[in-house]
Amino acid sequence: MQFTLENADEHLNYRDLSITLTEVNNVLQASFGIFRKTSFSGVSIHADSLHPSAHKMTVVDSAIHRLLNLPLSAAAIEDEILHIEGIASLNGLDINVRSLSQRRRLRSLLSDSSTSEPKRQKWVRLPFLGRASYELAAELKHLGFRVGFYPLRTVGNLSSLKDRESTMEKSGVYRASCGVCDSIYVGQTGRKLSKRLHEYKTKGGSAIFSHCSNSDHDPDQISITLLHQCNNSVVMNILKEIETIKAVGPNLLNDIDAVSLHKLIRFYCKYNDN
Ligand SMILES: [Zn+2]
Repeated sequence: MQFTLENADEHLNYRDLSITLTEVNNVLQASFGIFRKTSFSGVSIHADSLHPSAHKMTVVDSAIHRLLNLPLSAAAIEDEILHIEGIASLNGLDINVRSLSQRRRLRSLLSDSSTSEPKRQKWVRLPFLGRASYELAAELKHLGFRVGFYPLRTVGNLSSLKDRESTMEKSGVYRASCGVCDSIYVGQTGRKLSKRLHEYKTKGGSAIFSHCSNSDHDPDQISITLLHQCNNSVVMNILKEIETIKAVGPNLLNDIDAVSLHKLIRFYCKYNDN
């Protein structure tokens, strides 16, 4: 292994450690600090974004974990806390880094690691839908499941902002409205919305057309709004489920029992009804 000494041979940076050798009574003593590359910006997931709070906290959690587990000097700890506070504020996280690290240190001191056998956890992976997801995770915890969230909005979704194509020429998850009354239908299509709209106005067999026939509402008044542009059928299925759940109410024409809801989400809906 080869090391490079920097800053007039005072520091030696290795991985995320900065080691300083100081001469005390003719003996070199090592003290440790945190080393970050100069290219480290500290920018992570901003507090305002629709991501699970655990993901937003990762940048701070990992830094505190390192702070607690490395043999840092008192000065280096102070320095590092200020640094983590800077990272937290940069990402809009409203947290008290000092008390958070003290609580974690206390917890690790109090937890008796010698007796606790590592248990194998059952994990489920669910899309992150905001606040309701935390409630779902809390319920699943009672059933012995840990939940990992993944965000639905990715950089790929955002690229559609640059696209000037008419929304009616796109495919994805949409809301169809009767136009005469407030009835709506949440649907998905891999073809152009304009084609689907034409079918709704002219062909039978759809829930919204049946509604128009049964209520004597003019199908020519049906309109379609794109909710999510999407071409990936797996993502489209999930987005349609979410939009259908969001739209549940007296005006919704979808047969909610026919929606292929994830069984955990179905459980959650039933649980909330009771
Ligand atoms: Zn109607």
